Amino acid sequence: MSYHADERGYYGEFGGAFIPEMLYPNCEELRQNYLQIMAEPSFQEEFHQLLKDYVGRPTPLYFAERLSKKYNAKIYLKREDLCHTGAHKVNNTIGQILMAKRLGKHRIIAETGAGQHGVATATVCALMGIECVVYMGEIDIARQAPNVARMKMLGAEVRPATSGSKTLKDATNEAIRDWINNPVDTHYIIGSVVGPHPYPDMVARFQSVISEEIKSQLLEKEGRENPDYVVACVGGGSNAAGAFYHFLDTPEVGIIAVEAAGKGIHSGESAATSALGKVGIIHGSKTLLMQTPDGQITEPYSISAGLDYPGVGPLHAHLYTSGRGEFISITDDEAMKAGLDLCKLEGIIPAIESSHALAIFKDRKFAEDDVVVVNLSGRGDKDLQNYIDYFKL
Ligand SMILES: *Cc1c(COP(=O)(O)O)cnc(C)c1O
Repeated sequence: MSYHADERGYYGEFGGAFIPEMLYPNCEELRQNYLQIMAEPSFQEEFHQLLKDYVGRPTPLYFAERLSKKYNAKIYLKREDLCHTGAHKVNNTIGQILMAKRLGKHRIIAETGAGQHGVATATVCALMGIECVVYMGEIDIARQAPNVARMKMLGAEVRPATSGSKTLKDATNEAIRDWINNPVDTHYIIGSVVGPHPYPDMVARFQSVISEEIKSQLLEKEGRENPDYVVACVGGGSNAAGAFYHFLDTPEVGIIAVEAAGKGIHSGESAATSALGKVGIIHGSKTLLMQTPDGQITEPYSISAGLDYPGVGPLHAHLYTSGRGEFISITDDEAMKAGLDLCKLEGIIPAIESSHALAIFKDRKFAEDDVVVVNLSGRGDKDLQNYIDYFKL
C-alpha cells in the first residue's frame, strides 16, 4: 500500500479536484505538465541551486542534547527555521515560481492568512522579477501589519478581500476569481498541501527535500537512514508532508502529526481538524474539515496563525483515517510552555507553530534509544509580540 497520491490525486478516499468548470483549464494545464517539468534535469538543477545558494539548504539536523536528556530520547531538530525568510514555506514558493516560468506565466497570485505565505511568494517574485498580487482579508491586513509591510517592500501588491469574514477563506475566493479571469498569463501559488489536484502532490514533492536531507544526515550521524519517529505540526500540512514524505511507505518509521487544540479540543475554540473534522470539500479537495451539521465551515482558532486553518491536506486526512499517522493535539498553553522550554534548553526561539510539535514530549513517552526527528518548521521572531503578551516579558 502506498500513501502517496495516485494519478488522479487521491490519497485513499481523499483529494481529487472539486473545482468550478471555469477553473478546469488552469488546473488541467498544471496537472498535465507538472511531473514532466519537475523531472527535467534543468529544472532540478535550478531548483537545487536556488535551495542551496538562496534558501541556505541543506538545513542542519541538530542533535538537541539537553532536550534529549530532559525527555529521555534521542531528539534531533530539523532546522527549517534557518531557511531564508524564516520557515519552510520558501521551499515550495521557489519550486512553484520555477514551474510558473516554464509554463510561460508572467504574473503570480497568492492568498495569505497571517502573511507568511504571502511573504514567501513576494520573495520569489522579487527574485525572478515577476509581478505579484497577494490577496489578504481586510481583518488580517490590520492584524498582520509587519508582514504586509514586508510584502510591499518586496514589490508585491496586497489586495484586501472585503467580503464575508474578511479573512483567509475570503482571500482564497478572491484569488480563485482572479485566476478564472486570467487563465493564460497567471499562476496561482498555493501555500500548503491543500487545494485541487495536483497542488497537494506538487507541494509535497517540493517540500520533500526536508525528508531527503533527514535521511542522508541521519545516516551520517546515526549510521542509519530511518528515524524511529518523525514529528511535525500540521496547519494545512506542508512542512509535515515534506518531513514525512520519504518515510510514508516505510512502516518502521512512526509518523506523528501535531494539531492545534487551541483552548482545548472541546472548547469550541480549536483547530484540531482531524480530531474534530468531518468529510467535506474545501478549496477544491475532499478532506476532513471543521463544519457545522449542515456543512458550513466553522472558524478555527489557535494562538498560532499558521495552524489556524479549518481543513487539512488530503494526505493527512488519509494518514489519520488509515491509522498510519499518530495524531496528537496540543493546546495554546502547552505549546507556549514548550516554546519557552526550547529557548532555555537549546538557545533556539521557535515559531509557535513548531512549539506545538515540541510540546508532545511532556506526555508522549519514547524509549531511551528512540531516534525522534522533530521538524522545527520556523523561527519565533514573527511571534515575539505573542510571546511577550503571553509571558508578560
Ligand atoms: C505556515 C506555517 C506552518 C503551517 O503550515 P503547514 O503547511 O502545515 O506547514 C507551520 N509552521 C510555520 C513556521 C509556518 O510558517
